[in-house]
Amino acid sequence: MRILITGGAGFIGANLARVALANPFFSDVRVIDDLSTGLRSNLDGLDVDLVVGSILDEGALRRAMTGRDAVLHLAAVASVPHSVRDPFTAHAVNATGTVRVLEAAREQGIGHVVVASSSAVYGANPPLPSTELTWAGPLTPYAASKLATEAYALAYQASYGMPTLAFRFFNIYGPGQRDDHPYAAAIPRFVRAALDGNPVVFHGDGRQTRDFTYVDDACAVLLDALRRRVHHPQPVNLAFGTCTDLHTVVGALESILGRPIERHLAAPRVGDIRHSTADTRLLHTLFPKLTETALTDGLRATVEWF
Ligand code: NAD
Repeated sequence: MRILITGGAGFIGANLARVALANPFFSDVRVIDDLSTGLRSNLDGLDVDLVVGSILDEGALRRAMTGRDAVLHLAAVASVPHSVRDPFTAHAVNATGTVRVLEAAREQGIGHVVVASSSAVYGANPPLPSTELTWAGPLTPYAASKLATEAYALAYQASYGMPTLAFRFFNIYGPGQRDDHPYAAAIPRFVRAALDGNPVVFHGDGRQTRDFTYVDDACAVLLDALRRRVHHPQPVNLAFGTCTDLHTVVGALESILGRPIERHLAAPRVGDIRHSTADTRLLHTLFPKLTETALTDGLRATVEWF
């Protein structure tokens, strides 16, 4: 299968390219990425055809789509604070960009498009675990634009018969996730602080929980979706239904590093979600053979990458 990964130089995309290339079924991988947050070096050593360009550039997108059998659409402004500062750009890339990707795929008769949405669409205090049929309550431009991403993908299925699948990713972590910007995710921030001998900082009491998903496990689901051309009329949560609080993450890091890590409590951030857990029944129905990496193993691999 010849696949295109949009946003393939980013954290999840580059891991996906690596996992895909390890499987002879996906021997031909192309990436389109404007390198706005992704890095060319994330693809070092991988036999990937990289098109440097924006999904908003029709010519670049058409070149990238040519000859592909399937598309994994990950390109996005993936930062909530960025979207709050600049909602137009988040909308342009995440909403309009998705329509461009879908339209280019339709023009070229591409058989399958899988898109990345986010648990952010559930909003602040959804009933837990969050089921795909729970009313979405996006609180930020990022969340609203991700709701548009999945809605357009599903509308293309209904309107044009294009097989699509929209995943709601929860908190994906693993090697390649950057810690070097002010809004980095919790796990890379904690790993960096611990390795540098600095305290980890919790915004709030550290008892907030997340449904952490190791990146290779997410990639395995995405590639299985492509291989079996799985499509579905509703969005699908991609997580394992776990509730891990931040103290547990730091405790696991302490056991991996073999030393205590100091913890600092800072003021909670406005808009931070307290608990987030996926209802995974639909995922398990569509993907009966899931593999789940234990948090300690995923964290160990992340620490080794740093
Ligand atoms: P990332 O920022 O590392 O990856 C996004 C990639 O898209 C980057 O390489 C960036 O350069 C590229 N990009 C941005 N604008 C582009 C454009 N106009 N044209 C082409 N490429 C462009 O983030 P990530 O964590 O790898 O996220 C990948 C996808 O997963 C995103 O759609 C994000 O919204 C979604 N997601 C991620 C998580 C998570 O936990 N990491 C959770 C929910 C959803």
